[in-house]
Amino acid sequence: MTVASKTSALFVPYGQGAARGLDESELGGHGLQLDRLVALGLPVVHGLTIPVSQAASLAEIDVARAAVDLLQQLAGRRIDDPEHPVLLRLLASSAVSGAAGLPTDLPGLGIAASSVARLDAIIGSGGVTYDVFATAVRYVGEYALGVPGDEFADVEYTAPDAVTRATGFLELCVDHGHSFPEDPAEQLALAARAMLGRWAAPRARRLRRGQGLPDDLAIALHLQAVRVGTPEVCGHGTAESRDPGTGDFAPTGMFRRGVRRSASDDRASESLDAMPGGSDLLGHALRTLELHLRGMARVEFEIRDGELALLSASRVERPAPRASLRIAMDLAAAGVLDDAEAISAVRTADLETLLHPQLLLAGREVEFCRGLPASAGAAVGHIALSSAQAVEWAESGRSVILVADETSPGDMPGMLAAKAIVTTRGGLAAHAAVVARGLGRPAVCGATSLRIDRDSGEIHSAQHVLAEGDQISVDGSSGIIYAGVIEIVPPRPGGDMGALLKRADGVRRMGVRANADSGRDAAHAVQYGAAGIGLCRTEHQFLGDRLPLVRRYLLATDPAEEAAALIELAAAQKEDFIDLLTAIGDRPVTVRLLDAPLHEFLGDVAHEVNPMLGLRGVRLALTRKELYPAQARALFGAWVDVAETGIRPELEVMVPLVALAGELRLAIDAIHRAAEAVAEETGVTVPYRVGTMIETPRAALIADQLAGLSDFMSFGTNDLTQLTYGFSRDDVEAQLLVTYVELGVLPISPFVTLDPDGVGALLRTAIGLAREANPTIKLGLCGEHGGDPASIELCERLGLDYVSCAPSRVPGARLAAAQATLAVRAAAS
Ligand code: PEP
Ligand code: MG
Repeated sequence: MTVASKTSALFVPYGQGAARGLDESELGGHGLQLDRLVALGLPVVHGLTIPVSQAASLAEIDVARAAVDLLQQLAGRRIDDPEHPVLLRLLASSAVSGAAGLPTDLPGLGIAASSVARLDAIIGSGGVTYDVFATAVRYVGEYALGVPGDEFADVEYTAPDAVTRATGFLELCVDHGHSFPEDPAEQLALAARAMLGRWAAPRARRLRRGQGLPDDLAIALHLQAVRVGTPEVCGHGTAESRDPGTGDFAPTGMFRRGVRRSASDDRASESLDAMPGGSDLLGHALRTLELHLRGMARVEFEIRDGELALLSASRVERPAPRASLRIAMDLAAAGVLDDAEAISAVRTADLETLLHPQLLLAGREVEFCRGLPASAGAAVGHIALSSAQAVEWAESGRSVILVADETSPGDMPGMLAAKAIVTTRGGLAAHAAVVARGLGRPAVCGATSLRIDRDSGEIHSAQHVLAEGDQISVDGSSGIIYAGVIEIVPPRPGGDMGALLKRADGVRRMGVRANADSGRDAAHAVQYGAAGIGLCRTEHQFLGDRLPLVRRYLLATDPAEEAAALIELAAAQKEDFIDLLTAIGDRPVTVRLLDAPLHEFLGDVAHEVNPMLGLRGVRLALTRKELYPAQARALFGAWVDVAETGIRPELEVMVPLVALAGELRLAIDAIHRAAEAVAEETGVTVPYRVGTMIETPRAALIADQLAGLSDFMSFGTNDLTQLTYGFSRDDVEAQLLVTYVELGVLPISPFVTLDPDGVGALLRTAIGLAREANPTIKLGLCGEHGGDPASIELCERLGLDYVSCAPSRVPGARLAAAQATLAVRAAAS
C-alpha cells in the first residue's frame, strides 16, 4: 500500500466522521463536536482527526508528513508561504469528557529557527511568535527528547524575553544531543509522541483511576491549520451566548489579536466589538449552537483575514443563575425544550440565589470566620451582642447583626430587629436557624471558631478581633462572615421564575406548603406560591412581648393563677390566629398545639437535664390539662370570626411529640371538647381535621395505631433525626457532624438532607402502616428537610402527599418537587 492510500484511511477531515461511520469512541469528543459544527453549516477551522485506533501512528514520520500535506491542501495554504503561511495546532480529546490527564494543546508547530523571525514580522505583535515557538520547543524537548524539565525552568526563569527564551530552549536541546527539527512533519511526529506519552504517564493513569475511568482509556489526536496574519485582521478568543448578569442573549467574551500562545494566554484582551469583521457572525453561530446544544453555548474561535472560524463549541453546564433561568425559558418558548426539560435545566440553588440578597464579592474581602450556612441571603450591619442592644440600635436606624452564643425565645425582639443572625453554637435545626429561616433573615450558626468576650465587648476569631458596633458582612448561603462592609446585590426573582414555577406546578405530584407562624409569614408563603400552611408552631406566637405571659402560665403555682394566665394567653393567641387565618384564606392550615421545650421558655428557672427529651409537646399538655383545650378554643373561635368575613380556611389541628396512642387519644378528646364548647357558644360548627406529628421513632413504629385516630400525619424530621441518631439537634452539628463529613463517616449532615437509610426506613415503615390502617390519611413532612431538594426527592419516592418548608424556600421546593416527579417517572419507565 502506498503512503497516500494508507493515510487516507488514517485521517478524517472535520465534518466527515459520520459519513465514515465513526462515532465519539473513534473521533474523540472534539472530533465529534467539530463534525456537528460542520453539519450545522457553521464555519470551522480547517482540520482533521486521527481517530483513536490510529492515533499512535502519527508519531511515525511518514504518517505525520502525510497529515501535514493533507492539512495544507484543506487550508489552501502552505507552511512556507512567504506572505500567507499556516501553522499547525495539535490537540487531543477522549470520548469521555473531563477525563483527567488530557494534555494541553500545542498551537505553534511548523515554526523553525530559520522562519521564526519572518513569521514574527508578519504577525507583528511583539515577539508572540517566539513565545509560541518556545512553548513548542520545550514541549517536544521535555516530553519527546528527554531534556529535563527543570533545565527548561532554569532558562525560563533567567531569560529576559521570548526571543532569548526560544534560543535558550533550542540550545538546551542541542546540549542534550538533539536538535529541534526544522521540518514541520518531524516536529509533528515528535509532538504526537510527546502527547501520547503524557496521556499514558503513570500520574495521568492514576488520576483517571481516581475518577473511576479505565486508566488505558484512549485518545484521538486532531490537527488544525492556524492561518497566520497581521493583528489588524487576525486574532482569537472565546465567547458565551448569554450575559451572566441579565441572562439575555448577548455574545459575551474576549478577543486577542495575533496567534494563540498557549492554553493560558494572559495578554490583555479586547471586547468582542473590537473583532475584525464584527461579531455578527459569531452571534449567529452562538444562536445556532444554543438551539442545537439546548443550552447556553460557549465557543473558542479564530479570526483569520477577518473571517470567523470555530475551534470548539460546548454547552455551559453551570450558567450563572439568571442566565440558567432565562435560557431555559427562552428555549421552552421556542419549543426546543419541553416542560420536563426546562424544569430539569434549572437548579433549585439558582432560584435561592435569585430570591435572596447576595454579597458582591471581589476576592479581596477579609474573612472573619465561618459557620454553618443556616439561612440563605446576605446582610451587612453593626455587631450587637445582645437582643436589647440590637433593638436599641435598630430603632435608631442602624443595621444590626445579632451575634450570640445561641438564641432562645427571649431573643425574639433582637432577632426581629437584626438584619442577620450569627451564633457560635447550634445546628441547622436549632432555634436560631429555624427562626431565621422562618423570618427570612440570613443566618450563620455554629461558628465554633468565634468567641464572644462579653467583658471586653469583643468577638474573636482565629485571626481577628472585632468590637461590638464594628461592621460585618454575613453570607448565610455560604456560612462565611467577613469583616467590614461589602456591597449587597438585591434579590431579583424576575418574570422568568414565575413562568418556570408555573410549569413546575403543572408537573409535580406533591403539594408544597409553608411553615408559617404569623399573618405576616403566611402572606409571604402565599406570595411564594405555598398551597397552605403545613406547620404553624404556636409556641412561636409566645415569643418576645408574650414571653412573660407564657412564663407566668408555666411557672404558676396555684390553679387560680394558672387559669388567669391561660385566659390571657388564649386571648392573645386568638388575635394571632385571626391574622394567620385571614392571611391564608381558604387554603389548608395545620396548627400545631404548643410544643415548648421548657429550657427555651424558662431558661434556668425550670431545669431539665435533657430538655429536648423532657416535658415537651403533648407531654406538657397531659400534665397541664387546660393548655390544649384553651389553645383549641382560641383557634376555633378565631375561625368563627374569620368565617364571618367569608373566608373559610381548612383547619387541621396537630398534636406534637407523640409516642403513645394514649397521648394522642387524650389530646384529640380535648380538641373535640373545645370544638363542642365553641359550637355551643357561637352556634357555629367549625370544620376541622385532627392529626399528629411523627417525631419519635416509636410513633413511626406504631403509625398504624396513630393513623387510626388521625385524619393526617406530618413527619417532624428535625426531632425524628435527632431521636433516631441520638444526635442533639442543638449541639452536635458544629461539634461533631462537620468532622464526620470530613472523615467521610457521613456524606452530609442528616439535619440538612434526610438520611435515606435510617430515618428513611422509619418513614417508609410509618407510611406503609399508616396507609394500611387509614387509606385516606394525608401524609406530609414539615421538618427543615422539606426545603432540601435531595430530601424532597426522597419524599417523592416514599409517596408523601406534601412537604412544608420556610416560606422563602417554597419556590425552590416547588421546582425540586417537579424535578423529583420527573426523576421518579424516568426511573419507572
Ligand atoms: C420537627 O421536629 O421536625 C418539627 C417540625 O418540629 P420542631 O422543629 O418545631 O421541633
Ligand atoms: Mg419537632
